[in-house]
Amino acid sequence: MRVAIIGAGVIGMTSALAVKNSFPLFEVHLFANEFSPDTTGDGSAGLWSPYLLGNTPPERILKWGGATLRWLEKLWKEGLAREAGISLIPVYRCTSDPKGFSDSSWTKLVYGAHRLTAKQLKRLNEENKSNYKDCWMFSTYTSEPVLLLPWLREQFLKAGGKVRRSKIHRFDELIDDGYDLIINCSGLGARELVSDNTVTPIRGQVTRVSASWAMHAYLEDDDDGNYIIPNFNSTVIGGTHQENDFDCTPREEDFKFIHDGCCRIVPALQKCTVIKQWVGLRPGRPEVRLEPEVYKSSTGKEITVLHNYGHGGSGVTLCWGCALDVVDIIRNLKGLKSHL
Ligand SMILES: Cc1cc2nc3c(=O)[nH]c(=O)nc-3n(C[C@H](O)[C@H](O)[C@H](O)COP(=O)(O)OP(=O)(O)OC[C@H]3O[C@@H](n4cnc5c(N)ncnc54)[C@H](O)[C@@H]3O)c2cc1C
Repeated sequence: MRVAIIGAGVIGMTSALAVKNSFPLFEVHLFANEFSPDTTGDGSAGLWSPYLLGNTPPERILKWGGATLRWLEKLWKEGLAREAGISLIPVYRCTSDPKGFSDSSWTKLVYGAHRLTAKQLKRLNEENKSNYKDCWMFSTYTSEPVLLLPWLREQFLKAGGKVRRSKIHRFDELIDDGYDLIINCSGLGARELVSDNTVTPIRGQVTRVSASWAMHAYLEDDDDGNYIIPNFNSTVIGGTHQENDFDCTPREEDFKFIHDGCCRIVPALQKCTVIKQWVGLRPGRPEVRLEPEVYKSSTGKEITVLHNYGHGGSGVTLCWGCALDVVDIIRNLKGLKSHL
């Protein structure tokens, strides 16, 4: 059984590892035109916290997000924190919307989640010069893709998987090469690869600063909100979420918005050295697409393409849960039983 995976972002790499681990006898080959450190996740802080997921049903977010959180916890407990770039950090996640959070069902997954009392909220608003109407405090993991991705790749290669730098223009190329199953984890690339124009970029500009003393994450869930997320050797301050914007160049006005907003929350950031400015295009979609489709090649051959893309601002948060669903779907594919 020959499986081709398209994509070396956090979604493709986790799918590749999960499939190879679950079906050791399959030949699993991963194709991508960009690898770490040049994928969408590489500049992100990799915080586990659902964000920008369109209308993806909350029950799917809970299932995929819950499985990913437990996977991070397992790696953490196995002593793989450094290798996989995992930290466990306290977070304030706040909103200024008078209606509060649209969905906070995910708070049951994280550690020690509690809503701030009116008194605590008042104090935080004074400290952060803000006007929050609701705020959750909890602990969760970050898994820095710039460390997680090379680690995943190493595990995949050790398990016998193979990777190749190559752009795939049509599935027929892989079918002609003898692949029996294709897993499409192309992120924003799905616009071109499968002509899915519902996948649109959500531009995110962030700045990495040196702030080794920063231990808490602050997330403002507002349209004009800022965030601060500590990583191992730097702290990510952000950020923008500009829809349908393909511009990958950092902009001065976005830097100012990020810098001023984050210094309002934590004034000591004023004195920090800027390490890097970075822009990534989140693969936004009205809903994450994780489903099989029967594809007919130009020569009439039919094979299954399993789509796994459109994870918006939550690729890290959902990656392992989605990879496990990919494995489940493969297990249940008709005609594959003889290969298992
Ligand atoms: C500023 C910012 C901050 C973020 N912070 C977080 C966070 O804290 N937590 C979180 O969970 N998420 C976060 N995200 C979102 C997260 O980074 C994305 O959801 C995730 O990276 C998407 O992963 P992906 O593998 O689907 O796509 P990508 O990383 O874009 O990977 C797509 C892969 O497909 C390949 N590809 C595409 N088309 C083809 C083709 N035709 N042929 C061959 N290869 C192809 C590409 O080369 C690439 O390897 C953030 C994003 C940004 C921009």
